[in-house]
Amino acid sequence: MRAFSGIEPLVGEIVGLRTFRVDESGLLMPLYSNRAWYDGRNTALCAPPTGERGRGDHPVPSPDCQCGFYAYGAERAAAGNRHMRYVQAVVSCWGGVVAGTQGVRAEHARVDAIWLHPNVPRWARSRVAGRYPSARIYADRRQMLIEHPPSALDCYEQRAPRHLPARVGGAVGATALLGLGLLPASTLRGSALLWTAWLVAAATLTALVLWLLASARGVGHRAAALILAGALAWLVAPLFGPPGWLLRAPLLRGLVVAAGGYLLSLRPGFFPIERSRRERAFCGVRA
Ligand SMILES: [Zn+2]
Repeated sequence: MRAFSGIEPLVGEIVGLRTFRVDESGLLMPLYSNRAWYDGRNTALCAPPTGERGRGDHPVPSPDCQCGFYAYGAERAAAGNRHMRYVQAVVSCWGGVVAGTQGVRAEHARVDAIWLHPNVPRWARSRVAGRYPSARIYADRRQMLIEHPPSALDCYEQRAPRHLPARVGGAVGATALLGLGLLPASTLRGSALLWTAWLVAAATLTALVLWLLASARGVGHRAAALILAGALAWLVAPLFGPPGWLLRAPLLRGLVVAAGGYLLSLRPGFFPIERSRRERAFCGVRA
């Protein structure tokens, strides 16, 4: 059984928990798609989180696809999602529903209740309330969950998913990769161990980039390919001597932007608000 599929649970409504981005107009949007949710009934299309569109000639959600509206089954499953600290929503799911160990994917969904972090500006809070008149807005997250308890399905895992080992492994791998890309070529070639590690890393990254480009089904895959291509450029930079810094520039820029975004989120009173879609399009035209 997977996190969000494996069994087709029940008929009737399943209540789950999820998070959203909030845009300037008060709309709630998923973290990985710009398709806003609206008040009342929402119906999912086959447009999985990777950005793929229109693949499906199947009912939504399909156990073999990633489509459908996602909802965590319980707080412990949602706890690993950083954005849950800003926005939490209780949603009812119905129609076609598939469930897994962490939550459900559904054909139809409705926002029943919304909790926003106290840092949310008052104007944004009232716009959200105006967009979702049939949902109740809570200032107290616990109260929301008492009044709108998520459904307890047998397939949900009782313990919280363990993100830590994967995160530590990822951090160690990324640090090793950055380190290899900073060593002079003579040092790399001078040590059989370092040279083997470099060759394995370069071959793995090249294979991953090619695989992602060949099987790219949407913006998510292309973005991942771009990031890995940046890492590959960083890795091969030592072979080019001082001009190799040009190859390190894309990843350096990405790291600076990511670090800036993280530092910004530590500001007291911070609450992330997205530009509204129309404004984004307008900026795109002007740029
Ligand atoms: Zn699908």
